[in-house]
Amino acid sequence: MLDLVDTHAHLDDASFGADGDEIYARSAQSGVRRWVVPAIDRSNWEAVHALARARPGVSAAFGLHPLFVDRHEDCHLAELPAWLEGHGAVAVGEIGLDAYVDGLDFARQRTIFLRQLEIAREHDLPVIVHGRRAFEEVIHTLRRVGGLRGVVHSFAGSEEQARQLFDLGFHLGIGGPVTYERAARIRRVVTTMPLSWLLLETDAPDQPCAGHRGERNEPAFMLEVLDTVARLRGETRETIAAATTANASALFRLS
Ligand SMILES: [Zn+2]
Repeated sequence: MLDLVDTHAHLDDASFGADGDEIYARSAQSGVRRWVVPAIDRSNWEAVHALARARPGVSAAFGLHPLFVDRHEDCHLAELPAWLEGHGAVAVGEIGLDAYVDGLDFARQRTIFLRQLEIAREHDLPVIVHGRRAFEEVIHTLRRVGGLRGVVHSFAGSEEQARQLFDLGFHLGIGGPVTYERAARIRRVVTTMPLSWLLLETDAPDQPCAGHRGERNEPAFMLEVLDTVARLRGETRETIAAATTANASALFRLS
């Protein structure tokens, strides 16, 4: 029986509202029995916290996501330390930089990312980092702050960037994109990287696997990611499952 952790699932998303119990039932049946749910902005911290209290196996992370930079206010940053302490956070997230979407204030993203990294270090919590089209600057910032640990979720960088992240104590979050045959670069990274830095994720409801293209993604679909990683590396799914669950449990101090 598999015992997997989906290390990145936005299960408080409105798209899961209509069939809540079934999502968790399908997930558990597939072997995905624990879920790390990162927040995106101040307005969903309560919902993420409520989910973690209501659902055994759900762990919460709190932070301010770079895509929603326009919504973040200084008072939200100021509230974060006390919120982390009072609400059983397993990580600070989702935080980071996004240079893909046009029109986002990148200077403001930098300020908010940096402050949240400092808060994570002060609270001895791992960080869940989003770095779309900005992996180089993410790595530079993680190195500059120092004393951090965490995961770069939906990693899509180079082998050299991956090595730099391992040196900084960072895992790679691998999800749906690796299941696409054209994803040569990330497949090469996943094939050659040390298993000790690998985490599995869905990013549900986004980034569905090749087998569920165009659908709403959900944690049960993470088995396709598991099987792709196992096949690429020439290892059994049990080996990948055991290693990635151990990695996730240690990083997030899951019970
Ligand atoms: Zn996310």
